[in-house]
Amino acid sequence: MPAILEHSLGLAPVTELKNIGDKFAEKLAKLGIQHIQDLLFHLPLRYQDRTRITPIGALHPNSDAVIEGEIRLADVVFGKRRSLAVRLQDGTGTVTLRFYHFTAAQKNNLKIGTRIRCYGEARRGKSGLEFYHPEYKFVDDLSAAPTEETLTPIYPSTEGLTQARWRQLMDQVIHHLKRGRAIDDLIPAELLTPFSLPDLRQALLYLHRPPAGADLFELEARQHPAQKRLIMEELLAHHLSLLKMRAEMQIDPAPKLPTANQLRDKLLSQLPFSPTGAQLKVESEIQTDLASGVPMLRLVQGDVGSGKTLVAALSALSALEQGFQVALMAPTEILAEQHFINFKTWFEPLGISLAWLAGKVKGKAREATLNAIANGEAKMVIGTHALFQKDVEFSNLGLAIIDEQHRFGVHQRLSLKEKGKGFSPHQLIMTATPIPRTLAMSAYADLDTSIIDELPPGRTPVNTVAIDQQRREQIMSRIQAACTDGKQAYWVCTLIEESESLEAQAAEVTAQELQTRLPDVKIGLVHGRLKPQEKADIMTAFKQGDIDLLVATTVIEVGVDVPNASLMIIENPERLGLSQLHQLRGRVGRGTAESHCVLLYQSPLGQQGKQRIQAMRDTTDGFKIAEIDLEIRGPGEVLGTRQTGLMQMRIADLQHDGYLLNDIKQWAHMCQQQAPSVVDPLVQRWLGENVRYGQV
Ligand code: ADP
Ligand code: MG
Repeated sequence: MPAILEHSLGLAPVTELKNIGDKFAEKLAKLGIQHIQDLLFHLPLRYQDRTRITPIGALHPNSDAVIEGEIRLADVVFGKRRSLAVRLQDGTGTVTLRFYHFTAAQKNNLKIGTRIRCYGEARRGKSGLEFYHPEYKFVDDLSAAPTEETLTPIYPSTEGLTQARWRQLMDQVIHHLKRGRAIDDLIPAELLTPFSLPDLRQALLYLHRPPAGADLFELEARQHPAQKRLIMEELLAHHLSLLKMRAEMQIDPAPKLPTANQLRDKLLSQLPFSPTGAQLKVESEIQTDLASGVPMLRLVQGDVGSGKTLVAALSALSALEQGFQVALMAPTEILAEQHFINFKTWFEPLGISLAWLAGKVKGKAREATLNAIANGEAKMVIGTHALFQKDVEFSNLGLAIIDEQHRFGVHQRLSLKEKGKGFSPHQLIMTATPIPRTLAMSAYADLDTSIIDELPPGRTPVNTVAIDQQRREQIMSRIQAACTDGKQAYWVCTLIEESESLEAQAAEVTAQELQTRLPDVKIGLVHGRLKPQEKADIMTAFKQGDIDLLVATTVIEVGVDVPNASLMIIENPERLGLSQLHQLRGRVGRGTAESHCVLLYQSPLGQQGKQRIQAMRDTTDGFKIAEIDLEIRGPGEVLGTRQTGLMQMRIADLQHDGYLLNDIKQWAHMCQQQAPSVVDPLVQRWLGENVRYGQV
């Protein structure tokens, strides 16, 4: 770390300030505040304007103001609730101060003729504008007490820390700042000018003590340049850390893999359809990366059913034709299984040997598979996370494909890099559901992005309805009718607990209930507790039409593909997240028949449950659903637990500040070019101990 940082104000511990004992320091530490710079970055939530007195006649309803006047009337009134009403008058008008709780002393002090100054919010009340429980002080005592010189900051706080304490603490820091003790401005002036941003000291002084006359609306909208300066610095630091990560992944070269024209033609000629324009576009983006000799780091987004698997298969061929191995990892066993079956049908006719590896593959079978992977006999290796465990050694891994569903963290991708021998394998990440744009731009800034923005022809949008559990009977009759008609259906059981065995139990009970009620319907049951072979058998039977109704837990959420299934019932959809619901619904609407999705909810619905169900009824567009999901749940949740750390920002808030990300991309580039030495300190300042990806 450069010497200048060691002596800077920012990195001094808060205990250097006066009046900070151990207990207090502990409280601050709980808020993540250890150094003075942490304090400085602890920005006010909002501000009050106590810098000037507003004439009573100029008050606006629903806004905060300081007023001053003489008491003309003070009465206890007995309405619905007893209250003390005080009429206050200045030269311009009168207003009522109303107290529902008051002491006798208070009542006695607020005497007619007394002058007081109040601070509070003016609201419309019984008698015109009223202030409810305003702060007030007697002006006679403090004759001509000055108003505040700056706006009054309100800090985010924790129990036992008053605003007064915060202000006193900040006053000390500001005193140092004003006296010129430097906080390191890591961003040089030439990088600030293009965005008209103030320097750090200026920005901090402004935000902790905005001058009288500062625009409160601008501040509230997070639009003031001082705010932007800090928000952008934090976003920049996060972005730079991802770029560092990317650079690290690309240190070693990757094999050059030209397009495998022969294998490609063979595969395509086997298929009953041709690739969509969108699939071809994304394929060619991937092929360019693969041929470059630099490890590909590419994210493919596409809505459920857009045909990501084929794109993955075509990319795999490029590696396979050059004699390299390909690994395909799926988040769940059932999906990995399905990929295995798919790829087997596609690749075996091309003479490509496949291997299957999951956590549940044990003993001799495991040993044999590991050997085949290590000696290069197995070319296309498909499995779950088990693929990337330490004991799995590849002979010459050229491409790793991850079908991820937000579950595969960046640090895991780093470990994947280690699976290459002397070079790094290319990485292709496919998301199971679309990611909102702002999240993709921030959380996946280390990846190039391709979007499959077109569904294969002939799909009809799924018709979604929400029905109360009380009408369960009716739904069962509907299934009966559909199945008699040759259609197939899913019945999805959900549980709150993340327990596979409880979930399995619930599904078993439901399957029995349905069988009793619908004796003529062929019912199958699939859940996470079944053996892989049992699961595979049931899925095959369903696919072949030997089962009419498949009762399932959410294990079928990702990837399962049975085009003839056109009806889906989701029990208690209110328990699931939006992207999960969308993913589930994506299991129907894959064939040409009109499909229906019934959300069988349990009333009463909570606020979020209602919003989610409404969103499901409103749209089948995965990108729109992802945006709504982000609005409802916030970034951390949308990205999944593994990556929540990623989105823990101190000042920036992707929901409000996401629009800045285009600038950030450009800024990060400028920073790397013009001020490479500040990259590490910036990342250190904002990500600190949380540096997420191993080495930064
Ligand atoms: P996802 O993007 O959700 O992973 P899949 O790759 O599972 O989608 O594809 C969904 C279904 O669409 C599969 O049955 C697949 O065979 C089929 N499919 C893929 N591409 C096309 C295409 N170009 N035309 C018609 N059907 C296609
Ligand atoms: Mg898929």
